[in-house]
Amino acid sequence: MGGREATMVLLDENGIRCDGRKVDETRRVMIKAGGLKNADGSAYIEFGDNKIVAGVFGPRDVHPKHMSDTDTGILRVRYHMEPFSVGERKNPAPSRREIEISKVIKEALEPAVMLEMFPRTVVDVFIEVLQADGGTRCAALSAASVALADAGIPMRDMVAACAAGKVADTVILDVNNEEDQAGQADMPMGYMPTLEKITLLQLDGILTPEEYEKCVEIGIKGCMQVYELQKKALSEKYFDGENGKGGRGQKR
Ligand code: UDP
Repeated sequence: MGGREATMVLLDENGIRCDGRKVDETRRVMIKAGGLKNADGSAYIEFGDNKIVAGVFGPRDVHPKHMSDTDTGILRVRYHMEPFSVGERKNPAPSRREIEISKVIKEALEPAVMLEMFPRTVVDVFIEVLQADGGTRCAALSAASVALADAGIPMRDMVAACAAGKVADTVILDVNNEEDQAGQADMPMGYMPTLEKITLLQLDGILTPEEYEKCVEIGIKGCMQVYELQKKALSEKYFDGENGKGGRGQKR
């Protein structure tokens, strides 16, 4: 992204974006907690045209054993894109990009997960991108957080994520694939809404200090919207759904 000349109108004279959104509008987001009966916890998210599933196992014994830590539990995250998830078939082998995204998602989740309660164990998070359309790391991070909560892993807070960015010299919320490719900046953010702490912040592109401040502000607003949907997904499963009637229901 960045650097490339825009070949399409990213922002029209009425301030409407290429997919019909206003500058401060996210795409449609749908989150479902649970769904995979063989994982300890799971979640599915649709973030615009992104479709992502996350499955969690643990806390469980660490293999290989030498990776275990006697003082704390460890978190492992694998982000993977299906070959059919993007326009041009993606090689199923892990790419550098997938290794990087796995690492940033892990680091964004670590401050939220109370790993110190489970020394010598591991919590594994597996993320499968079924369909990608820009902003998969944010969508994946948001789904992983719900999957961890669904697995009953003690957490200090949820991590909600959304990107801000810049197209046509204007700060926008929730960058889609076209805006990512042809726009000027993409700034994915992960945020713990109760603790008011940012756990992921990357920037691809160039922003002025004022634009950066604006991106942080609008990005947090996007994260707060995602947070409401994360809570709704968990409450639908555990309180309103088939397991519901106000009590804590069975898993899945
Ligand atoms: N993408 C693609 N092929 C790839 C990797 C990415 O078409 O091999 C697309 C995909 O839609 C992705 C977007 O490029 O969402 C932006 O990728 P980026 O690396 O910026 O990460 P993301 O925005 O998904 O977190």
